[in-house]
Amino acid sequence: MKKLEEVLKDWEAVIGLEIHAELTTLTTKMFCGCKLEFGAAPNTHTCPVCLGLPGALPVPNKAAIESIVLAGLATNCEIQKHSLFYRKNYMYPDMAKNFQTTQGPIAFCMGGHLELDVDGAAAKERYRLDDLAVGETEGNITRTSDGYTAHVGITRIHMEEDAGKMVHIGGGEGRIAGATHSLVDYNRAGTPLIELVTEPDLRTPEEARLFMQKLRQIYLAIGISDCSMEEGSLRCDGNVSLRRRGTTQFGTKTELKNMNSFKNLHDGLAYEICRQAEVLEEGGIIYQETRHWDPSAKRTIVMRVKETADDYRLFPEPDLAPYDLSDEFIEGVRAKLPELPDQKAKRYEADFGLSAYDARHLVEHRATANFFESCMGIADGDAAKLAKPVANLVINDIAARMNADESFDLANCPLTPARAVELVKLLAEDAISSKQAKEVFAAVLDEDKDPAAIVEERGMKQVSDTGAIEAVVDAVVAAHPDEVARYKEGNQKLIGFFVGQCMKEMRGQGNPKVINQLLAQKLAE
Ligand code: ADP
Ligand code: ZN
Ligand code: MG
Repeated sequence: MKKLEEVLKDWEAVIGLEIHAELTTLTTKMFCGCKLEFGAAPNTHTCPVCLGLPGALPVPNKAAIESIVLAGLATNCEIQKHSLFYRKNYMYPDMAKNFQTTQGPIAFCMGGHLELDVDGAAAKERYRLDDLAVGETEGNITRTSDGYTAHVGITRIHMEEDAGKMVHIGGGEGRIAGATHSLVDYNRAGTPLIELVTEPDLRTPEEARLFMQKLRQIYLAIGISDCSMEEGSLRCDGNVSLRRRGTTQFGTKTELKNMNSFKNLHDGLAYEICRQAEVLEEGGIIYQETRHWDPSAKRTIVMRVKETADDYRLFPEPDLAPYDLSDEFIEGVRAKLPELPDQKAKRYEADFGLSAYDARHLVEHRATANFFESCMGIADGDAAKLAKPVANLVINDIAARMNADESFDLANCPLTPARAVELVKLLAEDAISSKQAKEVFAAVLDEDKDPAAIVEERGMKQVSDTGAIEAVVDAVVAAHPDEVARYKEGNQKLIGFFVGQCMKEMRGQGNPKVINQLLAQKLAE
């Protein structure tokens, strides 16, 4: 199979996402008063409504409606004042009612959008981005200095309920194939779910990943879900099709399931794009089907051929009255909107003079944003001066730690905001070199000590005293006449060699800025 990069030269990928979020921060189910609790003993949170017993009548959970309206407002949707619940009929043991209560053509939230910032390596997947000048717009993207922004339409966000959970016994890895019997747990049945559907506006797997990450940040900020992809409270299906570059008609799409991490979402889509290209280039056709991404085998396999909407016999739910939202209700929810990640980033740019790039990466996690703000509070009068170095520490060193170790808890680690500010000050005052700062950073985390104490203990102080450095520089220059001659003949790269020798002499404690300056001066003599 060809590589993604090759495929995307000839083909344009068209991607749309369907993202389900369980409203895990609520206390009760969607249409009954049963408790919402992950991991409770099977079938301990059920009642006639969520078991679909005859005569039981559903009552919508007002807090769930508040959550979906909050989600709609946070994603620029239009809130529909009048909408209906529908029945989506199907028979499977995980849904005792034999239908799922969902919404019809009009959902609570319609027609929203998000702006995606795509930069760095992620921007490289976009074909011929460099044909655009900074600030130039083409289709739904606008070129920026370090990548581009993409405008992604949101078709709708609708309210629905989750099904129960099947457990298959006797087969391999809990799969139905080979199982001797199956158990069903209805605790999850009736859990409030919201499904967001995007327009087919995404063009690369990276854009799909970034959209999902951005939506997760927003949902976490508004507090409607714990958004755990691992535990399944945030789930994503990826729809993807190809069309020849230069054509406008959409191709037939396939739908990918089981993309339970950002990496799987990206890699599953990348694989599927390459697979479809191969089929099409060999003269085959793409069938509209649902496929399963298998991350260990690194391929997608057919799950089922797509059912059409008619199969579900969608019709308005006769047990629920049409839902009307008042202006007071909507405005009441709007008043609860917290500061969203994009707004926070803009504030960091304005208040601390950070670049858009730095600000955006600081707000990627709530933990890093909170940490940064605590540091700025401590830095106080020096906040403007220390913002950039603190941002560097957070975006580079701390984020790397968080990526490497999922259990790393920034809010409860030995590197307190006060210590971070102390470390950054030592660096800003040239007391330690940036290389030493990395060592101190690691030592603070390992030994739970103040940066100043570590610097003291390890005798790390950076030497910036010009006299002391000059003596070393003179000695190094005198000891290497051949290199000096070659440098003077134009081999400027040798400066690195001289800096290295000086550093070695000074056991890594010389201020590289001063060393560089003095060397340049002496070698020019
Ligand atoms: P379905 O009827 O199969 O559910 P929808 O029109 O409801 O399809 O769209 C479901 C998702 O698939 C949406 O996110 C939409 O943007 C996306 N989508 C629709 N058509 C295509 C296509 N040709 N290629 C890729 N994605 C598509
Ligand atoms: Zn119930
Ligand atoms: Mg659909």
